[in-house]
Amino acid sequence: MTSVQNPAAKENDYILELKDLKKYFRIKSKKTFGEHPILKAVDGVSFRIKRGEIFGLVGESGCGKTTLGRTAVRLYDPTGGQIIFNGQDITNLSHKELIPLKQKMQIIFQDPYASLNPRLTVGDIIAEPMVIHKMFTPAERTERVQELLRVVGLKPDHIRRYPHEFSGGQRQRVGIARALAMGPEFIMCDEPISALDVSIQAQIINMLEELQQKRNLSYLFVAHDLSMVRHICHRIGVMYLGNLVECGSCRDVYKEPKHPYTQALLSAVPIPDPDRAAAKERIILEGEIPSPVNPPAGCPFSTRCPHATDRCKEEKPVLRDVDGTMVACHLYD
Ligand code: SF4
Repeated sequence: MTSVQNPAAKENDYILELKDLKKYFRIKSKKTFGEHPILKAVDGVSFRIKRGEIFGLVGESGCGKTTLGRTAVRLYDPTGGQIIFNGQDITNLSHKELIPLKQKMQIIFQDPYASLNPRLTVGDIIAEPMVIHKMFTPAERTERVQELLRVVGLKPDHIRRYPHEFSGGQRQRVGIARALAMGPEFIMCDEPISALDVSIQAQIINMLEELQQKRNLSYLFVAHDLSMVRHICHRIGVMYLGNLVECGSCRDVYKEPKHPYTQALLSAVPIPDPDRAAAKERIILEGEIPSPVNPPAGCPFSTRCPHATDRCKEEKPVLRDVDGTMVACHLYD
């Protein structure tokens, strides 16, 4: 296991540290005749997030990035490894023991339609965490909810409305207000813009960026839109088949991606400048992502990598420092 560090940061500067984190699911299906194969959604991932940092996690659909994010905030129980939050090992805390920590650790969900209870008013939805944690009087809660509505660009008198009375972008603003209600230090943003109209996405991203700066928040920003990640994130981790294959500063990874998978992913990002776009070569990957139930024995990318050798098919590469970026690829041994 190799811990991916930000060399500029000191030990206590980190808000979240994942060490060799694993999350496996047992698949129950009538077709498996009593045997339950194991799906390795996250298979030994390590990295740290610095206080006040936005760390982007990217990869194709099914690569395990959402499962990793949800396991990191203990929405899922990990199968193995360690989760350190604010210096405290939270890997095996019970759900009761986690309650006080959840004040500092919040989630913004992908789907603003599904994540808000349609039977509650917006005021009740945003106040819910304060009620659970028995904080403030009812009058103080109302005042705080109205202030949070203002902070996310809604009106204080929206407090009595129901989720169905809002547009998708407004509902996501309500979701963000709910996440801010307890004054968190860390927010896991689970593809927070992918369900929104393109015209709204930039507004929500700008608001998240502004909130991060004003409140010195740290984000784990799970996304598949690489242009947005480049815009908002300080560092980026690239996942493939449950593994972290590259991790470094956004500037370095976007300028000079090292892992063949990252190179292919970034080659598909549209460039607005027509001359530069025409000069850019798109790397088309052949084949599908292998099943995480039966991953390749060596490098997880070996079945699609244009540079794969016999060694790649037998020996799994570990993350190593290549000019300040961590890369898991035998090309850099
Ligand atoms: Fe490709 Fe081999 Fe590097 Fe894996 S280890 S990315 S298969 S060159």
